[in-house]
Amino acid sequence: MKLHEYQSKIIFRKYGVPIPQGYLAMTANEAKRIAEELGDMVVIKSQVLVGGRGKAGGIRLAKNPKETEEFAAEILAMEIKGLPVRKVLVDEAVNFVKEIYLGITHDRQMRCPIMIASSAGGVDIEEIALATPEKIFKVPINPLYGIRDFQARNLAVCIDLPRDLWKEFIEICRSLWMVFSETDAIMAEINPLVITTKQKLMALDGKMVIDDNALFRQPDFLEYRDVDMEDASEIEARKYGLSYVHLDGDIGCMVNGAGLAMTTMDVIQFVEGKPANFLDVGGGASAEKVAIAFRIILSDPNVKVILINIFGGITRCDEVARGILAAMGEIKPTVKLVVRLVGTNANEGLDLLKKQDIITAPTLLDAAKKAVGIAKGAIV
Ligand code: GDP
Ligand code: MN
Repeated sequence: MKLHEYQSKIIFRKYGVPIPQGYLAMTANEAKRIAEELGDMVVIKSQVLVGGRGKAGGIRLAKNPKETEEFAAEILAMEIKGLPVRKVLVDEAVNFVKEIYLGITHDRQMRCPIMIASSAGGVDIEEIALATPEKIFKVPINPLYGIRDFQARNLAVCIDLPRDLWKEFIEICRSLWMVFSETDAIMAEINPLVITTKQKLMALDGKMVIDDNALFRQPDFLEYRDVDMEDASEIEARKYGLSYVHLDGDIGCMVNGAGLAMTTMDVIQFVEGKPANFLDVGGGASAEKVAIAFRIILSDPNVKVILINIFGGITRCDEVARGILAAMGEIKPTVKLVVRLVGTNANEGLDLLKKQDIITAPTLLDAAKKAVGIAKGAIV
């Protein structure tokens, strides 16, 4: 779950990362009033869950409350990378001499969290990381110890931070580690962390991603979820306890079990097809669940065929087949289905489906080939 900048900043403040003073506004008028209260130049920042807002025109500096109102109105009318701007953060503007990048994420190769720093912070960090990776410095973090002072000091040296700022920098590294570990984040990033003209460090932007699997023990974040920013079908799926991830291919997948769903996607790609989604319907596959899954898969206009891959363990395949048929009666899918059933009572299940002219397949490989064939326009 991604957090907005203003939400990340609330957490940063709680753990002692210095941030500018600022408030959230839903309307241009509110933005104006905040500017009046802050009393100086402000920066108006669109709150959308995508990167590169600055480059997209979603961050503006305003000299006075009147200008704030004008710019806020413009930003609130924007769409950035397809997402509507519904809120702006109005922060006191900060003058700075340098932009630094500082972040923590998990490194899957090193199998531990790492802290990343660069003296080339700011809106071009992605390009810099690609073109000149030697400007990016990383240190592994032992989660039992957290970031050690010597490691933070090493980073300070690597990014040529002036010596008077080391102490502050080390504090910020420690705080950012606390933010990361206590919120079960998988990413916590400050870009830019600036050196102000008054020679202080300050986090002007914040980005966090919380591990969805940890949300059960992070109840405070439930109210942070912003459904305006999420894929409508993913929200729908979550409501019914299905794990659905929308992808950009054309073969809809309905599978029971996350591992089997991953395998199904792999096999589809192996035979040169592209899955339209990941969907784990979980244990069992009642008509009700299958109907919901159909609806969600079919809400994607790119889907040309649905591959159903079910392993019947405790759930019997004939029950699943009846579930599929009942759901088809209700939803009347507009695309062909290819079904592979295996496990308890598989033959009974397959017989029921064949009677209704549904394409079945004895193996996953065969099912994937048939689905890919249909997606590519072959007549099966
Ligand atoms: P992003 O583009 O979504 O990463 O948004 P940021 O919050 O990082 O803002 C983009 C850029 O706007 C920063 O890198 C800064 O250069 C600039 N910026 C943001 N806040 C301020 C501010 O208070 N004062 C000034 N002068 N520039 C700012
Ligand atoms: Mn940024």
